[in-house]
Amino acid sequence: MKTVTSKTDRRPITPDWDPWDPWYTRSEKGQYELTSVEFTVTQLCNLRCEHCAVGEMLVEREGIPIPVDQLIRKLDEVETLRTISITGGEPILNPQVVKETIRPLLRYARSRGIYTQLNSNLTLPLSRYEDWIEDLDVLHISYNYRGPEDFHRIVFAHSKQDVPFKTAEMLYNRMVDNARALSKAGVFVSAESLISPFTAPHLPLMHRHIAEMGCVRHEVHPLYPSDFAKNMELLSLDQLRETILHLVDQRDPDVWILFGTLPFYPCSDRPEDRELWLRLHREPNITVRHDPDGRNRLNINVFTGDIIVTDFGDVPPLGNIHTDRLIDVFNRWLSHPVARKHHCYCPSARCTGPNILVAQMYYSDWNFRKRKAELSVVEH
Ligand code: SF4
Repeated sequence: MKTVTSKTDRRPITPDWDPWDPWYTRSEKGQYELTSVEFTVTQLCNLRCEHCAVGEMLVEREGIPIPVDQLIRKLDEVETLRTISITGGEPILNPQVVKETIRPLLRYARSRGIYTQLNSNLTLPLSRYEDWIEDLDVLHISYNYRGPEDFHRIVFAHSKQDVPFKTAEMLYNRMVDNARALSKAGVFVSAESLISPFTAPHLPLMHRHIAEMGCVRHEVHPLYPSDFAKNMELLSLDQLRETILHLVDQRDPDVWILFGTLPFYPCSDRPEDRELWLRLHREPNITVRHDPDGRNRLNINVFTGDIIVTDFGDVPPLGNIHTDRLIDVFNRWLSHPVARKHHCYCPSARCTGPNILVAQMYYSDWNFRKRKAELSVVEH
């Protein structure tokens, strides 16, 4: 694979600059802005993972997408746009989707200096990634395995047919080889692990595999029970905290770890939870991302045109691109009671409040708007 060269003089993505993080607009402009749009470009996928956040929506055949010109016209209306994410299903499974939707979106983003991310399971032949990857900033993959046996069990958990181990092993090896080859060629590969009852004891090992594949970043999020994962066991706060600390103690310091949707806050009642917040903000090469869902991002389904505000909470579509401007939908969301309830802000602790689902899971009796940080991460 040929080396992917740097395309523009935009500020590189580093622990000091994560363009998806809503922190920057909230802290610099005093309000949230629509800086991020995510497109669900397909509901087809070759896998059926146990934790899939859109599992119930996956289909065997899908309809006709909205022409990309229409999608781009909608993006043209958003002056504040900073990032575009492309997700599925598996976005690159259907070459037509790549040609007619993904490539034009990436080219458009490049022309506006907008950062891009695509979520892929990376199990297709390497050649399928080669002719568009130069226009992409972040290739996001999932990694929740000790090896091919785990992969076999996890990624076909909801498959209607039995999938032979040999098939799973081939896909697992291909994913690992692809991640290595793309990383070597200069692609920013970010591998995400979910903290689940299964992964929790093995996260340091998974982290080592991710480092060995050459990934720039390891994204770590607790698993929350939505969609396919709705019957999975929820870890306690103690278990989550211990797992995170264990990983931090054993990590490769050269790999950036990005934690997201954490259930620990600077206003947490327990000192050990506040201590964790402090530690994560002091360690080099570790960041805690504020949740884009509900703060700076909208998701567009390219088949229905529905606009949703988050893929975690049970908030129904807030509009449709056939009838609404994205900016109007976003402003409507900001005054929605669910948003108002969770949009607290403690600047000296660098906190913008909880993800909706996290708040519902662990803190259903808390009024976040009445709480206050009991620590500061600002250096004086
Ligand atoms: S912003 Fe909200 S969640 Fe964060 S410390 Fe303040 S009150 Fe707590």
